[in-house]
Amino acid sequence: MNYINENINSINALLPKNVKLIAVSKTHGAEVVLKAYEAGQRVFGENKVQELVPKYEALPKDIEWHLIGHLQKNKVKYIAPFVSLIHSVDSIELLEEINKQAVKCSKVVSCLFQIHIAQEETKFGLNEEELMSLINNGDIEKLKNIKILGLMGMATNTTDSTLISKEFEYINSLFNKLKNYNLPPNMNMTELSIGMSSDFKIAVEHGATMVRVGSLIFGNR
Ligand SMILES: *Cc1c(COP(=O)(O)O)cnc(C)c1O
Repeated sequence: MNYINENINSINALLPKNVKLIAVSKTHGAEVVLKAYEAGQRVFGENKVQELVPKYEALPKDIEWHLIGHLQKNKVKYIAPFVSLIHSVDSIELLEEINKQAVKCSKVVSCLFQIHIAQEETKFGLNEEELMSLINNGDIEKLKNIKILGLMGMATNTTDSTLISKEFEYINSLFNKLKNYNLPPNMNMTELSIGMSSDFKIAVEHGATMVRVGSLIFGNR
């Protein structure tokens, strides 16, 4: 599995220093994740709680685990004690549950708001109007054990790079607009999580600070 090492190196060679590589290890076993770990990778993303928890338990404790997929409220309690960043927050109800579980662990959980930027109806996320009303209604600052670090988005699954560019540019402009906005004290705009295997280079051109790459590192699922 030396290819994992080579894949990580060639992706990192294409990333500016300020862009963090999240290795998306979903569907791959702990022994495969360990190969990436041995290649120096420390940040991993999983989209399902039931896959994330056993990998967290089996693997070295200096790994930073990110939850990147849709999260159900009743599963937050399983990941709150150890998760480093939740990319997929798309409702105040979910945020309140994360806060409640974070209080129980006496920690602050970092989150991103997932923004719907794709044309597919099926992708989760808030639209701009929903995000702005969430920011403006005063609920976020009550959640003292939450910190919002930025935004996450998934482009349309297409080979049309012009469309992907437009979608990433849109979320990047929202991200930059919010930087100059009167945000709640526990919210700032430092992280923009956009780009996967097929479009991470486009994402870097449009302000990504994190790219979530799976198949280009571990092979097809
Ligand atoms: C699976 C997944 C990725 C990585 O996809 P690849 O095409 O394998 O790079 C990125 N983000 C999310 C939310 C995912 O579920």
